[in-house]
Amino acid sequence: MKILLLGAPGCGKSTQAKLITDMLNVPHISTGDMLREEIKSNSKSGQRAKIYISQGGLVPDDIIFDIVKKRLQNDDCKNGFILDAYPRNPSQAMELAKITKLDLVLYLKVDNKKVIDRLSNRLTCTDCQKSVPKSSGYANCPYCGGNLVQRPDDAEDVIKVRLETYEKQTKPLIEYYDKVSNLVVIDADQEVEKVFNDIKMAINRK
Ligand code: AMP
Repeated sequence: MKILLLGAPGCGKSTQAKLITDMLNVPHISTGDMLREEIKSNSKSGQRAKIYISQGGLVPDDIIFDIVKKRLQNDDCKNGFILDAYPRNPSQAMELAKITKLDLVLYLKVDNKKVIDRLSNRLTCTDCQKSVPKSSGYANCPYCGGNLVQRPDDAEDVIKVRLETYEKQTKPLIEYYDKVSNLVVIDADQEVEKVFNDIKMAINRK
């Protein structure tokens, strides 16, 4: 099954994508994670992407298209995939439509105020990219033992720009996918397990 997760930064896309991946045994494709890997390896794309990410804007489409196209051609995508945060604007949606057809689009709806709290209070593992609340008190990642850090773009001033970017560029995709695809709205203000239950129901209805 080919699933897209849509929603504001901090709505829990990544957490839910990992759970769906385990359930359906299809890969989790996160352009954010892939870009952070490019930055880590100091590639040319990574060096360009870093500037946009640190300012809260979107990375230019040409970089994203290259990364996603290559990834979707991998053998492990034959039986489907979970797209997390791609597409993020209308032109990316058009490009994606040229290469594949989605089975389900899950819109994880959250209250913006909660998003600011969640993002400014999370630590992310530099290895497995999972995150935990600062208040959990973990010194290292509870999943893999890696280093926990605050993502530079989780600083409060950058979060505000990321939310504006989302409102302007990504939110219009909700209306678009409601017209052209099978879009299901999920209440993502609930606890992780409840959100995942609603997602499972949406998947089983497909
Ligand atoms: P995320 O981990 O999904 O919050 O993404 C972190 C940052 O990576 C975003 O704020 C963007 O700067 C960049 N990014 C991730 N996915 C995309 C995309 N599909 N298009 C453009 N920029 C992206």
